[in-house]
Amino acid sequence: MYSIAIDGPAGAGKSTIAKQIARRKGYIYVDTGAMYRAMALFLIENHITPEEAEKISEKSKEADISIVYENGEQVVLLNGRNVNGLIRTEEVSNMSSASSVNGDVRKKLVELQQKLAETADVVMDGRDIGTCVLPHANLKIYLTASSEVRARRRYDEMTAKGTKCDIDVIKKDIEERDYRDMHREISPLKQAEDAILVDSSDMTIEEVIDKILGMCE
Ligand code: C5P
Repeated sequence: MYSIAIDGPAGAGKSTIAKQIARRKGYIYVDTGAMYRAMALFLIENHITPEEAEKISEKSKEADISIVYENGEQVVLLNGRNVNGLIRTEEVSNMSSASSVNGDVRKKLVELQQKLAETADVVMDGRDIGTCVLPHANLKIYLTASSEVRARRRYDEMTAKGTKCDIDVIKKDIEERDYRDMHREISPLKQAEDAILVDSSDMTIEEVIDKILGMCE
């Protein structure tokens, strides 16, 4: 099996790029953030707050998260229910970043991710793919961009969808999430020693894709 790991902070363009690479290589794209988001949604629906660590550990056992593919799109199932349309809110973003520090949550989702990579060639994106989930990935990329650029991209994305938002609030949320992801005890976000750094601040999506495809060769 062949695997490409793409890690990096929120809003660096990981999913857009990973999806395109997977399509062009004929691999499966695995968005691990969506799994943490589905878990966060489950916790929110059960009225658990980010501070309730014990309850998170307990309740997370009841969440059955799986992934299926429909028309080439990843669909996340939470206890059998398609939750794709519910996991992209700011509330879920913030809860997923808070609940992903939990060891029981991570163990459960990492196992699922490793199983997926055993059965298919994958492009997997997340925070700990090159360091923990797939330490033997064939290619590891650490994709980043400045927080200003990342906030601007998210702002453009949301306003294009007609969602009203404030760029300063988005930037602050992004920086807080980065901090939590980089400073948590278990598998913090960091560049794997053998990962290649790609800073997309001044690159177009096409340029980043071409660069990574070039590395695959
Ligand atoms: O990538 P995305 O922003 O959708 O991920 C949501 C949250 O899930 C991140 O802020 C991060 O805290 C967590 N996450 C993680 N490990 C991964 C993928 C995501 O901890 N492999």
